Amino acid sequence: MTLNKEFIGVIPIEVVPATALKVIAAHISGYFNLPAQILSSPKLSEDAFDQTRLQYDAGILLRSLESMEFNPCKKVIGVLRSDLYIPIFEYVFGEARQGEQFAVISLFRLRKNPDGSSPSESLIHERAAKVALHELGHLYNLFHCEDKNCLMHFSGGLEDLDATPLYLCRYCSSYLKYNISY
Ligand SMILES: [Zn+2]
Ligand SMILES: [Zn+2]
Repeated sequence: MTLNKEFIGVIPIEVVPATALKVIAAHISGYFNLPAQILSSPKLSEDAFDQTRLQYDAGILLRSLESMEFNPCKKVIGVLRSDLYIPIFEYVFGEARQGEQFAVISLFRLRKNPDGSSPSESLIHERAAKVALHELGHLYNLFHCEDKNCLMHFSGGLEDLDATPLYLCRYCSSYLKYNISY
């Protein structure tokens, strides 16, 4: 394997279904045209899990990841099965360090529809791919986009996420290409 500076690592933070990881890696290669590889779980700070909220604190998780070496990964996406939050929100689908190396996403909220019914596996995978690509966009310094037909449009809930496409608008797409080449 050659050391590619644009290598993207997909890492399970806990026991995460292997198909979800494969789908995320395949979408990174297919939609962002970047090589992606699934890596093994790292040993992370136990403080990251909030025993009262029963959720992972995204900030602590990201700091824990930042204290480790993931060479030769240019960017790393951690995938959780448990719920994820940042202090100002009840939950988040994902969280990324804008323009930096690490992001985390959670499958937890993607496994139940807003009406309480269960989505198909393929819909869960599509949602996971959208969240992962959106956060990867932030890692390549893309900001939220006002265009509802763009992957970088902010999703406040599952209805928004389901209405968001898997692709970037023309503006975000060219910004991404530019940022990847630098
Ligand atoms: Zn975002
Ligand atoms: Zn856009």
